[in-house]
Amino acid sequence: MPVKRILQLGDPILWQVCDLISDFDSDRTRSLIEDLDHTLADFRKRNGFGRGIAAPQIGIARRAIFVRMHPGGFAGPMINPWIVRESEERIEMWDDCFSFPNLLVRLTRAKEILVEYHDVDGAVQSLSAQGDFAELLQHEIDHLDGILSTDRAIDSQSFMTREEWIRQGLESK
Ligand SMILES: [Zn+2]
Repeated sequence: MPVKRILQLGDPILWQVCDLISDFDSDRTRSLIEDLDHTLADFRKRNGFGRGIAAPQIGIARRAIFVRMHPGGFAGPMINPWIVRESEERIEMWDDCFSFPNLLVRLTRAKEILVEYHDVDGAVQSLSAQGDFAELLQHEIDHLDGILSTDRAIDSQSFMTREEWIRQGLESK
């Protein structure tokens, strides 16, 4: 079954630091990437949003994410992604997560980052990202270190239900 259940806030696996992947050319890693791809696509189809997923969210504490920027942006897996550089300039935003889709968290993220990662063949790739894409990658890479957006909340009032977030018209801000 390629579509996996998405772990929900409170599951201790989400706070675990994930293991590096070195067996690029293995069935285990290939099926992990495929499961992430299918689970992300399924979530997006059912909910109308969703651009990235991290392995611990499907219960696998290994360092892999799958990203699909729409439309026409980067799409594919990133294995062992790490942030090489980040801008001093930060942006404040409402962050959401598949593992608690009805809770938005106000936090700041670097505006631009340089990321390196392994591709499915184990080769090191690098890319620079800004704006939405940079925010997303920081969110997904945090998952690999067991860090959730709730851990990065600016203060105790940096939480909002999705219903209230929509009611206040914050989706476009
Ligand atoms: Zn998340």
